[in-house]
Amino acid sequence: MKLYRSTRTEQVTVTPTEAILKGISEDGGLFIPDEIPIINFQLADLVGQSYQEVAYKVIQLFFDEFTEEELRMCINKAYDNKFDTAKIAPVKTTQKGDFLELFHGPTLAFKDMALTILPYLMIMSSKKQRINQEIVILTATSGDTGKAALEGFADIPGTKIIVFFPQEGVSEIQKRQMVTQKGDNTLVVGIKGNFDQAQTGVKEILGDQEFKDYIAQQGYRFSSANSINIGRLIPQIVYYFYAYTQLVEQNKIEIGKAINVVVPTGNFGNILAAYYAKQMGLPIKKLICASNKNKVLFDFFKEGVYDINREFYMTNSPSMDILISSNLERLLYYLADENVEIINELMRNLKKEGRYKITDQMKKNMEDFYGGFTDEEQTKRAIQKIYQEERYLIDTHTAVAYAVYEKYLEETKDEVPAIIVATASPYKFTKSVLGSLDNQYEMKNDFDLLKEMEKIIGTSMPLGISGLKDKEIGHTKQCDVDEMKKIIKEFLN
Ligand SMILES: *Cc1c(COP(=O)(O)O)cnc(C)c1O
Repeated sequence: MKLYRSTRTEQVTVTPTEAILKGISEDGGLFIPDEIPIINFQLADLVGQSYQEVAYKVIQLFFDEFTEEELRMCINKAYDNKFDTAKIAPVKTTQKGDFLELFHGPTLAFKDMALTILPYLMIMSSKKQRINQEIVILTATSGDTGKAALEGFADIPGTKIIVFFPQEGVSEIQKRQMVTQKGDNTLVVGIKGNFDQAQTGVKEILGDQEFKDYIAQQGYRFSSANSINIGRLIPQIVYYFYAYTQLVEQNKIEIGKAINVVVPTGNFGNILAAYYAKQMGLPIKKLICASNKNKVLFDFFKEGVYDINREFYMTNSPSMDILISSNLERLLYYLADENVEIINELMRNLKKEGRYKITDQMKKNMEDFYGGFTDEEQTKRAIQKIYQEERYLIDTHTAVAYAVYEKYLEETKDEVPAIIVATASPYKFTKSVLGSLDNQYEMKNDFDLLKEMEKIIGTSMPLGISGLKDKEIGHTKQCDVDEMKKIIKEFLN
């Protein structure tokens, strides 16, 4: 069986189901496969296959503790008609580039790609481990993860989910999506504080042994739906293989030829999945990491220094407004040739000084990556350009990727075809997107602009968003940061 180990301790190994249930290793490290599997199929075999079939072929290489029947059941329940296209993750071809659309799930952002399957993987893991406690998912969100996790876990027997979001720190549409969530096992709470405080609060609770013992007596155990969970990372590898086969089908590339991928990045989960795909044998040449004005990763790839002692910006691509990219720890592990001593030292420095510097050898090892960033004006111009020339409306996060890709082309003249990852539907950010086309829209609110956007796009708006304004608000709880435990206790009683 494939085993998993921590990025921080050599001896720790756990089975796939243990890794999925734990979410994070007790030493604070992240779980990674003992060895990255090489594909045991031909790329040509994937061409023309369904998303579900590609998902099975890829995921079984990692989660072989499940039987074929179990894994296929998880996949079929996740990728069904809650996606608005049978293709699940279609590639939209334009003269300006090929966009891999990862926003056709229920909450209109790419988090659905993994958070639709994670609940089934967790329940199955819990059964296999013969755990009879209910799983309580704790999540702090700045917008997209919260709603995707709520949709994924709502009404799933054997689970409860609690989401904390910063009362004043999410967009109108994101907030409404969460507070109208149905499902008796869900709780959504507005925190009187910012996202960092919510996140820190959740992390503290996950590490609080006394509190964990207390809820264990009530028949519960905590887990995490954040992208540090390996059960979220592995399903994200699938769509890179799937996108590749679509380029082959469209005669854009010959099988075996290399592509580049361009990924709008925050927590480094999505692009790390592309890195895994490459290690497994998918011909990817460059991994182009696109950041917004919070360009901590750009500086890292350029200088080999990761430094969070800097101003934090709230931008028009809010899901990428982040300074600590948790999943980078997994890449560091590979760059350090799996030397856990180095990882421990870097992570100690990050905690103590908010900064670390990697070795020259590690810097050499990251030649496959290219880092780029854009400011908000360039992001707006990218939306304008793609719309004017292609009549294709992209969201602000996708626009960051496109703008960085343009810079990359200018700099390198690289002719290898690229997949540009489109992470959110423009409907999630109506004001910023339409405001890029014409600043008269910036006067209006997100809800009023839904209809306008529908007219411009010319097809009816996705189900996840129509009627949202009139849905009943079922979640009105608010709390101070130091009341999170109290709220959890009340909910579980
Ligand atoms: C979460 C998110 C990202 C960043 O993805 P990471 O895996 O955290 O790097 C980019 N765009 C959107 C729309 C997101 O929701």
